[in-house]
Amino acid sequence: MGDADDDGRRVKIVATLGPASATPAGVGDLARAGADVFRLNAAHLTPDGIAPLVAMVRGAEAAIGHPLAVFCDLAGPKLRVAKGTAPAALVEGTAVTVGAGGSGATVEVEGMEPARECPPGTRVLLHDGKVVLLVTAARAAVVRADVVRGGAVAPGMGVNLPDVETSLTSLTEHDLGCIAAALDGGIDAFSLSFVRRAADVTALRRRIAARGGAVPVIAKLEKAQAVASDALAAILAAADGIMVARGDLGAETSPEMVPVLQKRILKAARAAGIPTITATEMLESMIHEPRPTRAEASDVANAAFDGSDAVMLSAETAIGDRPAAAVAACARIVREAERHPEFRTSWAVAPPAFDAVDPVADAIAEAAAAAVAHLGAAAIVCFTQSGRTARLLARHRPARAVLALTPHAGVARALALVWGVTSRVVAEQPEDHEDVVALAEREALRVGLAAAGDLLVVTHGAPVVARALTNLMRVRRIGG
Ligand code: PEP
Repeated sequence: MGDADDDGRRVKIVATLGPASATPAGVGDLARAGADVFRLNAAHLTPDGIAPLVAMVRGAEAAIGHPLAVFCDLAGPKLRVAKGTAPAALVEGTAVTVGAGGSGATVEVEGMEPARECPPGTRVLLHDGKVVLLVTAARAAVVRADVVRGGAVAPGMGVNLPDVETSLTSLTEHDLGCIAAALDGGIDAFSLSFVRRAADVTALRRRIAARGGAVPVIAKLEKAQAVASDALAAILAAADGIMVARGDLGAETSPEMVPVLQKRILKAARAAGIPTITATEMLESMIHEPRPTRAEASDVANAAFDGSDAVMLSAETAIGDRPAAAVAACARIVREAERHPEFRTSWAVAPPAFDAVDPVADAIAEAAAAAVAHLGAAAIVCFTQSGRTARLLARHRPARAVLALTPHAGVARALALVWGVTSRVVAEQPEDHEDVVALAEREALRVGLAAAGDLLVVTHGAPVVARALTNLMRVRRIGG
């Protein structure tokens, strides 16, 4: 009793759909194994491919009986080795041309003008940082570079320019097509790659609004520029959630910076009251192996100890041999981590007071989290129109489950990403306090988060009929 999710997990799981899992049966298997949220990687999709995938998630949601969210991950200014580049093994100490039409060994990069973006003295990283080039000279449209660390290069591999603030636009033509198609297909949220500044997030929000949409925006943090203190604070204020996108973050900074940045970003995002996803290479060996390595199990558990709202699987579920087994392994690791005292002590320090939009609701959330712990109550039930009260409650990491009741399906789905929150859509509109408590009791019993005789902590807004912002907390014994 008192579990946050149907299988008792607080930390949510995001599964990336791809050839290995993007069928109605495949999505259903992932959901049954524990996936709460699905990621569509637009880098590998055409706009027409998005709506059918959203429909598959809706099918799985209907079958499993609780909200599942699906978001579209926009590639943004992600650079790749162009299709026209011949696969080659670059040898350390040799020289290479970056750009189209060069002579000798050439690497063409899609969507950028090398002479404009890569001044001499800056690095060009290929294949997520495995191959390192140092630009020596700019010549008309191309640049010459020395191969500092060699390796295989082939079309489609990621390219990073960690030393420059590129002038690339934050949304490409492909992104714009995907935004339109995803909104038409009923997407629940977007994430944006290579966010450099808060303005990138607001530009995407404007595009969404221009199409009549109002879905959340998750900023993927993978540029050194974005995780510098001032930029990070502004991005956290502009975004509805963040992803620690460790693949490109490790290329743009360094692998040894990833664990440090992960802790710093997760802490700052919790203080800002927005949900977090820790992503990439979490169970990488499970792309082919039936079991995770010990290091991977530790990594997933540590992402939970660090306070992530969610952990994400990428290639494991998109192209892996056993997508559902990877989700099930992730769920088992998280559940075990959650039983360990460290899971709570790691954020024993209360988050700073939240004075941004609604300090009253945050004070109620803090009181509810304290009450549920002191009284041994079974759960907190919150009534929320926007999802905000549930996110505020989660920020205080309450000891028992949060059941968020909302009239809006989109809000219930967005909460699938939030730590410790079980959400349900309720069509019923309570008229007064007694209705509110009766509905809270009924839903807590129905979802299985409480039993007759248990205490419930209920938060809502008064006046009830006016759907006021959260300003009340009540404690009630079920059936009492
Ligand atoms: C990452 O770089 O860690 C990431 C999540 O981005 P993508 O999978 O889109 O490359």
